[in-house]
Amino acid sequence: MAKMTRAQLAQRRRIELYKKIIIYGFLVLTILPIFTSMFLFYKVNQLEERLEYALSEDGGDYLTLRQSREALRNNPNANSERFATSVKSVLGATNTKGGKADNTVDGEQTTQDADGKEQSSTNAGNETDSKETKRVYLTFDDGPSIYTGQILDVLAANNVKATFFVIGRDEEYYDYYKRIVDEGHTLGMHSYSHVYQDLYASVESFGDEIEKLNDLLYKVTGTKSSIFRFPGGSSNNVAPLPIQDYIAYLNEHNINYYDWNALNGDAVTSGLSPEQLVNNIMNDVENNQDSIVLMHDLQTTHTTVESLQLLIDTLKSEGYEILPIDADTPLIQHVSCNSVEE
Ligand SMILES: [Zn+2]
Repeated sequence: MAKMTRAQLAQRRRIELYKKIIIYGFLVLTILPIFTSMFLFYKVNQLEERLEYALSEDGGDYLTLRQSREALRNNPNANSERFATSVKSVLGATNTKGGKADNTVDGEQTTQDADGKEQSSTNAGNETDSKETKRVYLTFDDGPSIYTGQILDVLAANNVKATFFVIGRDEEYYDYYKRIVDEGHTLGMHSYSHVYQDLYASVESFGDEIEKLNDLLYKVTGTKSSIFRFPGGSSNNVAPLPIQDYIAYLNEHNINYYDWNALNGDAVTSGLSPEQLVNNIMNDVENNQDSIVLMHDLQTTHTTVESLQLLIDTLKSEGYEILPIDADTPLIQHVSCNSVEE
């Protein structure tokens, strides 16, 4: 009886073991592929979103940055003084893969930074830096949007002036154009439609859009704008004509255009946290004397608004001066305005 039981027991154990192997094997073989495909599905979705954005009108601003950096590196006409400045600034931004900026946004304040580079971090007023203060120009493209008011509120609370490259919007947004001007910011043009095919179809359509937008801005704010940012940047490759054709128009009308040599990437990846957005900018600005920072004032870029206070705090604590674009601002251009023969 006992023998039988032992044999039975051993058999039962073996059966139990086989059962376990089968159950666990089954679980691994079914659950693992399920999780893997869920993960891949998520990744594909994410990539699709990014691709969709990159191919959309607003994505062009980012897509062309890398291209523009390459274009600058290969540009043979880097002999004009103005252009040399832009090349240096933009190339400066390409060599910023140092890791130390990780510390800059860890805390709300960077005053207790551990890495010792903060001799300028406590200058809450005393500008006695031996080096020239680095300047940062914050720019917001594609507005006004539902967030323009919040952006303006944060800027006002910090007494910071910025630059808005706006497009043509309907009446419910007119107050924002007005607020931008009334509160001392620089109002720049970014075309009326921002629709590449329409805007860049010909120099005539390009000029018409600028005129139409400036008429609107004049009607609403009482002032005209004299600065412009190309949708997609001056280095975009969506325009069917050589970019110099459009630049010639701007030169003739005494309109300065500004690209950028720093960006937060808000139009690149939808999931970036405010800290990541600030980090991207700090990585870019540290190698430039003058940085024009590309950000977006779009319905889809709410994290930019959320990041703004942290960005201003971080820039100020590291001793940067934040300014609106004006006549003294270096012309940071991916393709120089001097590349057009007079
Ligand atoms: Zn844009």
